[in-house]
Amino acid sequence: MQASSVARGVIARLGIRSYPISLLFELTWLCNLACLYCDRHTPMRHEMSREEIFSALDQAYALGMRRTNLDGGEALAHRHVDEIVGRLVERGGEVKLNSNGILVPKKIKTVRRLSRLKISVDGPRESHDAMRGKDSFERALAGAEAARAAGVPVEFTCVVGRHNARFIEGLLDIAENLGVGVTFQPALNSPCGQGNCSDRSNSVPRLGMREAFAHIPKDGCGQCWCARIVEANYKWGLRFDRMLAPGD
Ligand code: SF4
Repeated sequence: MQASSVARGVIARLGIRSYPISLLFELTWLCNLACLYCDRHTPMRHEMSREEIFSALDQAYALGMRRTNLDGGEALAHRHVDEIVGRLVERGGEVKLNSNGILVPKKIKTVRRLSRLKISVDGPRESHDAMRGKDSFERALAGAEAARAAGVPVEFTCVVGRHNARFIEGLLDIAENLGVGVTFQPALNSPCGQGNCSDRSNSVPRLGMREAFAHIPKDGCGQCWCARIVEANYKWGLRFDRMLAPGD
């Protein structure tokens, strides 16, 4: 954690002021796969332009954001992803990216600049390819290996459903052999279980980042289904007490 981010965490924890320290940014819903449980493989109408994206990131940075998670669709398929990652890294921020892994070898110059690459894997080959298409498992693993060879930490994300619940042990074996961790999550249509993605009224291009951030409902994120977000909120909210396992 950077000292300035810790100070912002303390100020936010005391209820004095909130900061957007970490930003999850869905760059596009364009994707090079069409997984059966996913509704994000077709670009949305009115996706943000290059200028709107850079303006939003600049505004978020001015408000204190220092960590960005780029997501999609397939974030590596976005036509400005190289420039976006470059600008964020040059500013000194930490950039992570969610991917299905397929474009990693082709985009290795950009991937090399990430602090972490998170690759979606649905289990061993049979359950992964059944959901994501022929050869997608092999290409996801090739992406993971290319990133690791470039020195980028890799983590798997596994969406758990009926299609793969019985294959989880097999996935754990694969992850262990590769030396990567796995985050499990259920299939839901939003990265925030408390946010309403169909409500576009709180628009950053229209209102500006400061006003849009001020309008985000802050009803408390004490617990939800998304382990990564809950753990990040505990960390940035300085709730070390909540990180202890029950009984500790
Ligand atoms: S790779 Fe991800 S974004 Fe693309 S279709 Fe599959 S689940 Fe959706």
